[in-house]
Amino acid sequence: MKEIVDSHVHVSLLPFEGWESMALAGVRKIIGYSLFFGAKHAETLFDHFHQMLTLSMSNAAKNGIKLYVAIGIHPMGIPDDWPRVIGALPSYLKMSGVIGLGEIGLHEGNKREQEVLHEQLKIAKEYRVPAIIHTPPQNRVEITEKTIEIAASVGMEPGKMIIDHANLDIIDLIEDFGAVPGLTIRQEGFTSQLLLNHLERFQRGVLNSDYSNLKPNDPLSVPKTVRYLELNGASPEVIARIARYNAEEVFGV
Ligand SMILES: [Zn+2]
Repeated sequence: MKEIVDSHVHVSLLPFEGWESMALAGVRKIIGYSLFFGAKHAETLFDHFHQMLTLSMSNAAKNGIKLYVAIGIHPMGIPDDWPRVIGALPSYLKMSGVIGLGEIGLHEGNKREQEVLHEQLKIAKEYRVPAIIHTPPQNRVEITEKTIEIAASVGMEPGKMIIDHANLDIIDLIEDFGAVPGLTIRQEGFTSQLLLNHLERFQRGVLNSDYSNLKPNDPLSVPKTVRYLELNGASPEVIARIARYNAEEVFGV
């Protein structure tokens, strides 16, 4: 399959060779998300957003990849003066190439994270843009339920929410709410094999690598998954949906 979309990449952490390899493997569009681990100041995030909109855009173009960017406050890097970032988000949403808010969500699930998520979802709702939501490795069911509760309380349209790092434990919660499952392929946990075995339950999803430097990651995990599914007899139509069309639809790209 050609024209692959990787729907979750922390592009500022992607080396130039990563862009090149992804392009050679058939990735044509990337949705890039902000994440500045341990950010302490609003300015740190403003510079981070600026870098995505300049250097990352240029690296994408040099490799024939279309990059669409989402900006926001990731729960692993909430600045002390985070309300200043919230105040600036609407002006970023007006910039060309910015398609939504992400990666946002709860990591530990504490009150501060909940407040930051609540304020960001209010903006996503008001500007009718997609919101890409993180789920953590621990307390997953409880935290996904809390996330959905916050989204419902601000009246966020479920179909504009991508709840990422889906797995068998939370897929029913995501589906019942009507959100789009993000399918992050990893060497452990949510693997290509697990996806193949439960393909029907995940067919509304959007494949991604979640490339970052937080843990071992593979920028080619989406093309490799496509190849694995093709070689193991999965429906070409379902492969095309999770590796391209579902993402194009929800992000409007
Ligand atoms: Zn991520």
